[in-house]
Amino acid sequence: MLTSELSFRAVIDASPLGIFVSDAEGGCIYTNAAYQRISGLCFTQALGTRWSIAIHPEDRQRVITDWHSAAHSEAPLRTEFRFQRKDGSVVWTRVNSAVINDGTSRHGHVLTVEDISERKATEFELLAAEEELFEEKERAQVTLNSIGDAVLATDLLGNVTYLNLAGEVMTGWSGEEALGQPLTTVFNIIDGSTRQPADNPARRALYEDQTVGLAANCVLIRRDGFESAIEDSAAPIHKRDGQVAGAVIVFHDVSQSRAMAAKMTHLAQHDFLTGLSNRALLTERLSQTIGLSNRHSKQVGLLFIDLDNFKHINDALGHTVGDQLLKSVAARLVAYVRSTDVVCRQGGDEFVILLPEIEKNQDAGLVAESLQVAFDTPHLIDGHELYVTLSIGISVYPDDGCDAESVMQNADTAMFHAKKNGRNNYQYFQAEMNIQAVHRRAIESSLRRALTENEFLLHFQPQINLASGAMVGAEVLIRWQDPELGLLYPDQFVPIAEECGLIVPIGNWVLREACQQVQEWLNAGLCAVPVAVNISAAEFRNKGFLAGITRILQETGLDPGYLELELTESILMQDVSTAVSLLEALKEMGVRLAIDDFGTGYSSLSYLKRFPISTLKIDQSFVHDIVTDMDDATIVMAVIGMGRNLKLRVIAEGVETDEQLAFLRSHQCDEAQGFHFSQALSVTEFSRLIQTDKR
Ligand code: C2E
Ligand code: MG
Ligand code: MG
Repeated sequence: MLTSELSFRAVIDASPLGIFVSDAEGGCIYTNAAYQRISGLCFTQALGTRWSIAIHPEDRQRVITDWHSAAHSEAPLRTEFRFQRKDGSVVWTRVNSAVINDGTSRHGHVLTVEDISERKATEFELLAAEEELFEEKERAQVTLNSIGDAVLATDLLGNVTYLNLAGEVMTGWSGEEALGQPLTTVFNIIDGSTRQPADNPARRALYEDQTVGLAANCVLIRRDGFESAIEDSAAPIHKRDGQVAGAVIVFHDVSQSRAMAAKMTHLAQHDFLTGLSNRALLTERLSQTIGLSNRHSKQVGLLFIDLDNFKHINDALGHTVGDQLLKSVAARLVAYVRSTDVVCRQGGDEFVILLPEIEKNQDAGLVAESLQVAFDTPHLIDGHELYVTLSIGISVYPDDGCDAESVMQNADTAMFHAKKNGRNNYQYFQAEMNIQAVHRRAIESSLRRALTENEFLLHFQPQINLASGAMVGAEVLIRWQDPELGLLYPDQFVPIAEECGLIVPIGNWVLREACQQVQEWLNAGLCAVPVAVNISAAEFRNKGFLAGITRILQETGLDPGYLELELTESILMQDVSTAVSLLEALKEMGVRLAIDDFGTGYSSLSYLKRFPISTLKIDQSFVHDIVTDMDDATIVMAVIGMGRNLKLRVIAEGVETDEQLAFLRSHQCDEAQGFHFSQALSVTEFSRLIQTDKR
């Protein structure tokens, strides 16, 4: 027996389960080694006590309640609770109880106590982790639903696994409905410009295993068909082992900013007034077209158009009418070219038409001709019937230039030649034209030298009174004695001087020289006559103009009555009120004023009355055909009649023949000037003439 009890005890002590045996009253009669370790109580400490004394205070009440209800139903107790040792340390346990029963009465209880601290710790860790995960998920969920960007996630197969609130709004799918759907069903995107399905960014992110941006110009089609421009990016999601598990697409509506950007681009590329492409867009299109034409071995035509009489109309009728005319011109150009041609406004009254694909050079000329026909019809603006003609320069790629810039430049040069060729015509670019452009630049630089080296001289052309036959005045005409080129006439250099601004100092020189000369003649006792000096627009507009004349008259001592200024209609019409006050000041000084080339401009007669002028010079183009052309004859007669009514002296320019003279005489024209009487004479020749006159 002893051995069997000993071996039984050894078995029990070796058990990892703690064992507690009580008598019928619940007092401890036995504990094994494991129980002593778990409870922290040695056998003598435990002996006679109840097992419940070791229960952790927080668990005690619950366990005792369980114990009683188990006892009541005679069921074994199975529970988990903490033991608290004397030193404060805690052990989690699972406890089973069994009644020691001999069939008639209870003798006590056996408790088995398993130390589950380790398992509990893991459980708690898991719980805490779960809690944390939940919180994290919740945080992510709230974040994802409160951001403005739409977020959509897919699995590896490209099926939707998540859609946030913004995503629901933008796709028109609820998160629940979207779940499991193929991405392209929920996230239906197309290329805004081609309307073709757009490259799916999620597929690329999965495939390339990296974050990818979306193709530009992407449009999302909502479930109900509504379209919005979007911008987005997609990124792969990885599993812990680094394998791709799915993708996340983040996108947002950029309709507004894209519309704004489109508007900005349109503004930057179009002319505000006419809505046509502007120079920047044309240059871009021309370069593109040249690139394409190389591939199609086609030619590209460029028409550089300048309106002929726009400036006059604008000056005479005002900017509002001018603007409307430009719009009307733009509309007509667009109406008369093909829809594939690009019409552009370069600025001012210059337009350019790009003909993207022409078979042969001549095609561009045909377009130019048809435009000229189209412009035979006047533009109806504000009750005015306005006629505008076109000077057109044509250049063709690849013959006339190897890139956009040179093709443009050469069309411009050709246009300049069309202008010089008498306007209302078109010119193809020719290589010699560039030689002429080089020539112009050379002239410009020698003009500066001419001023300092005193290479200019003056000629005087007599003006004859038709009634008396006497010389009553002379027009001062500038000449240039260039050391290499010889004697140059104004047509060869005045327009260039006007363009580069040199006309101001040159004109000043002419005025001083003319006044000095007349004063010299007067001093010499010769029969000097009043002289007429031509004034260019730039001189007239120059701030110091009036002061300059005053100073010259003072310094030369010339009687202002000997000076007449010739101004063209267009100069006066540019700024009528300034012109009136300037002319009034000049008249006050005693300087006479003439309108040169009268009849060629667009002057309004009501304005003409406001200008304090003394002379009208009938342009030579009318005088030229006075005998053969009824229209010209009528115009000349009208001008003579008008001059008489307004008490102005009328002088006919460019009189060459007896017939012309006879006509003018018979219609009582006051004066005449022209080769019929005399060419313009050098100072020496003219001095001799007035000497003779004196005699
Ligand atoms: P304009 O003021 O109309 O001058 C008359 C032009 O007609 C002069 O040419 C003159 O020589 C020419 N002419 C005179 N009689 C006849 C004729 O019977 N038949 C023909 N076919 N022509 C005749 P020019 O000297 O070559 O001057 C041309 C233009 O240059 C002038 O036209 C004037 O606008 C401008 N100009 C001349 N001198 C000056 C100047 O000192 N300053 C400015 N700003 N312009 C000037
Ligand atoms: Mg003149
Ligand atoms: Mg003239």
